[in-house]
Amino acid sequence: MRYKTVTMPENRHIALVAHDNKKADLLAWSQRHKPQLASHHLYATGTTGEILNQQLGLAVHPLMSGPLGGDQQIGAMIAESRLDTLIFFWDPLSSQPHDPDVKALLRLAAVWNIPVACNASSADFIISSPLFNQPFERLVPDYEAYQRERALSADT
Ligand code: PGA
Repeated sequence: MRYKTVTMPENRHIALVAHDNKKADLLAWSQRHKPQLASHHLYATGTTGEILNQQLGLAVHPLMSGPLGGDQQIGAMIAESRLDTLIFFWDPLSSQPHDPDVKALLRLAAVWNIPVACNASSADFIISSPLFNQPFERLVPDYEAYQRERALSADT
């Protein structure tokens, strides 16, 4: 696979997601970091987004609820380079009906090399990094080169 760089803009597009047992933790984390989050574009799965919109006081763009497809919507945004960062407080102690979607989402975050936090400590590290509030060059798969090479090998 070839890679190319894309620039993550200074104003990041950040997805916030929490499983039910972690929603209070994500709300507390978001309240703690509200000043840092305020200048970025925020997205969230349905129920998480509703809670944040009501209680955080920042505009959060709601997607579908996670079990109904919200995690997959976030995955699609990552694959289309429309999302820069994922803060996902998932619950490691309960089984989830949409576990395959969660796995797919984390896989795409790894493929497209975006910063991901799966717990509060990692989220603290990401948001307090000096890299967080400046443009950042990120290596991503070069899909056009991949397609060209596949087309060439199909011709031979
Ligand atoms: P929710 O989805 O915000 O709609 O609860 C989160 C998830 O479980 O992925």
